[in-house]
Amino acid sequence: MNAAVIAANAAITAAAVAAAAEAENAAACQPTAATAAVLRARGAPYALEPVTLVAPGPGQVLVEIRACGICHTDVGVQNNEQGLPLPQVLGHEGAGVVLATGEGVTHVARGDHVVLSYASCGQCGNCSDDHPQYCSNFMALNYVGMLADGRVALEGPDGPVYGSFFGQSSFATHAIAYARNTVKIPDDMDFALAAPFGCGMQTGAGTVYNSLAPKEGQSLAVFGTGSVGLAALMAAVDSGCSPVIAVDKNQARLDLAMELGATHAILADAEQLTADLRSILPNGLDFIVDTTGYGPVIRAGTEALASRGQLAMLAVTPPGTEITLNPNILLGGRALRGAVEGDADPQIFIPQMIERHRAGRFPHDRLIGTYAFADINDAVADMRAGRVIKPVLVMG
Ligand SMILES: [Zn+2]
Ligand SMILES: [Zn+2]
Repeated sequence: MNAAVIAANAAITAAAVAAAAEAENAAACQPTAATAAVLRARGAPYALEPVTLVAPGPGQVLVEIRACGICHTDVGVQNNEQGLPLPQVLGHEGAGVVLATGEGVTHVARGDHVVLSYASCGQCGNCSDDHPQYCSNFMALNYVGMLADGRVALEGPDGPVYGSFFGQSSFATHAIAYARNTVKIPDDMDFALAAPFGCGMQTGAGTVYNSLAPKEGQSLAVFGTGSVGLAALMAAVDSGCSPVIAVDKNQARLDLAMELGATHAILADAEQLTADLRSILPNGLDFIVDTTGYGPVIRAGTEALASRGQLAMLAVTPPGTEITLNPNILLGGRALRGAVEGDADPQIFIPQMIERHRAGRFPHDRLIGTYAFADINDAVADMRAGRVIKPVLVMG
């Protein structure tokens, strides 16, 4: 065969493959039977129930979930602090395989391995300014229980089940996400390791890499060494911060923090905290990441900041929480700020985190404990009791 014939045959084969893939995708674009962990009442345990997912619409992606991390926000909402509609399916750190894509989805295709993160509109001022984590439509896309097109994504035996939590609802065998919050990952990445990059690891690590961006040799303390705090701590170590100080009430967590590269550990006492920190750094700290949301600890932190030091608050606090400060502390260029989702655009940040993990720079596998999907209530109980730092459910 001459070169022209070979090229023509290759073109015909490629067209046939594309047509077959398109037909397969179209066949998969239909309502799908799934099993979901349904929350039926505030504070109730999850119940595994059969549900049907709607077919993915334009801009939507049907994903077979293989793993899903449990985040503190799931636990908060399970106790219905945010007053979300019930029954509902939570879960916002899904990872899995794309089964079908709706019209207009081009960056992922059937068969791709993906992580799901928070949803954003892509059109508001903050999305246009590369800050989708502060999307003007964040609440509507992540918390109202419905898809952006107004459909309720899940139907149970007794009627609609609210979902689309963080644009996914991944405490289930299948989920409908959006193109914007579906991030392609390498096929050989373990789903259980990839899933927590969708929220918790992104929140902690992104606060350091993106929001605070310390220079090598700058000091950083982490208040609270749960999964988000330890993610921040690993990012600080990777960034060359020194000293890196871990603060917690739990000695076992502090021991782990030291193994992960902390230079100092402080068993927390809010009254002593400023003095303890200043005994390490008399001139004060460059950066503090607070994951506790506890007023006296945050106040003690502000009083241990160096001139131009910054304290980033990451915790969602219960309604009515107030923090008192000495405002003069903020003179000297000190700043108290909040951050969500680590100021990260998931499409850019999650692939970077996978690279860092693979290079041995972000050993978050040390934090993870896996559970069968059916054991979701045990996983939540273990998390609340501090027996596991980052529980990840494994489906199928
Ligand atoms: Zn937006
Ligand atoms: Zn989360």
